[in-house]
Amino acid sequence: MKHAVALIPLSSYDQPLVDEAVRQGMALLGGIEQFVRPEEKILLKPNLLARALPQKAITTHPAVFSAVCRLLRDAGCQHLSYGDSPGNPTTTPDRAAEVCGISEAAAQYGLDRADFASGSIVTFPEGKTAKSFYLCKGVQEADALISVCKMKTHALERITGAVKNQYGCITGVNKATGHAAYPNSEIFADMLADLNLCIRPRLYIMDGVIAMEGNGPSSGTPTAMNVLLFSADPVALDAVFSALIHLDPAEVPTCVSGAKSGLGVMDEESIDVLTPEGTLTLTQAQAKYGKADFDVFRGRIKKGFLFNFMPLLPFLQHRPKVDLKKCIACGVCEEACPVPEKAVHSGDGHKAKYDYKKCIRCYCCQEMCPAKAIEVYRHPLARLLNSK
Ligand code: SF4
Ligand code: SF4
Repeated sequence: MKHAVALIPLSSYDQPLVDEAVRQGMALLGGIEQFVRPEEKILLKPNLLARALPQKAITTHPAVFSAVCRLLRDAGCQHLSYGDSPGNPTTTPDRAAEVCGISEAAAQYGLDRADFASGSIVTFPEGKTAKSFYLCKGVQEADALISVCKMKTHALERITGAVKNQYGCITGVNKATGHAAYPNSEIFADMLADLNLCIRPRLYIMDGVIAMEGNGPSSGTPTAMNVLLFSADPVALDAVFSALIHLDPAEVPTCVSGAKSGLGVMDEESIDVLTPEGTLTLTQAQAKYGKADFDVFRGRIKKGFLFNFMPLLPFLQHRPKVDLKKCIACGVCEEACPVPEKAVHSGDGHKAKYDYKKCIRCYCCQEMCPAKAIEVYRHPLARLLNSK
């Protein structure tokens, strides 16, 4: 059987239009009743990466979150909560939710704040790469999770979408530990696939009305993609996202790991894209709704000719690079760095300074920098030889 991804074109965050689009998307998947029951404790997991206004496209837009709340309330769902654990050490879930407009939307529909500040170890013996996770209490207490994710680029995984959104179910400091334990894009993606298999979200809804391209997931540029995506399969959903930005899902680690682990499917033959005008293939959806010049890293990650020689040519390795003119010496990058001896030092009046010998290229520093001062540097020669 094919895996369905509903795609609703939408070019505005005007609330009545978003409400209607979410209703339409869920109708194409058979209705919200297919995924949750009214008596269940349902947790909404938006992307609350940072204290950022909605128009910055760092977080899930409150209009999309609000429309999902409304749909659930209309279906008679009584026990609703929400939460996320931002990786940024300078913010709390509550403060992030407040600034990005999610807490106001949640209050309107009477959602409880789930506990994302505390957690405990949950074992997952079936995991192929990760056998346990330090999960937030709010996640453990829910019967069903709905992932309301954001369409963005990501320095480590190229994109952050449906699969990656669940990393916020791991409590604050334990996220950095995870980066150290799963130190490259493929292994990290394998762990994310296990995490999704452990939590088993019932439904994934992606806000791609205004997406983020370039230096994502927090320092990139907002760009209109004009879609909402819906699916029970996060891999298929991320494959549609990839297709829309003209990126082969086979080049996206979370799609590859997700397909390999049985979390979902990413190949064209296995996915139906359901739209109000009818069912499309990935290629047809790309032609109709895609954006070929979307700014995302398109080079090979570890398949280029030079990869075999990288250990001999460390200067060719990609790495975080700070723009000292933008750096405000806040110390966040040092705090976020998961390497015990720290691969970047900053704060107390000192701007960021890297020790690349210690750096594992996890890009937590780039993700957390509040000043957009850190970018991924790729040597021109590596770009040339690893490009496709
Ligand atoms: S690079 Fe960014 S996170 Fe690091 S000290 Fe400078 S402003 Fe702060
Ligand atoms: S310096 Fe940045 S990219 Fe390197 S290990 Fe630390 S957080 Fe990760």
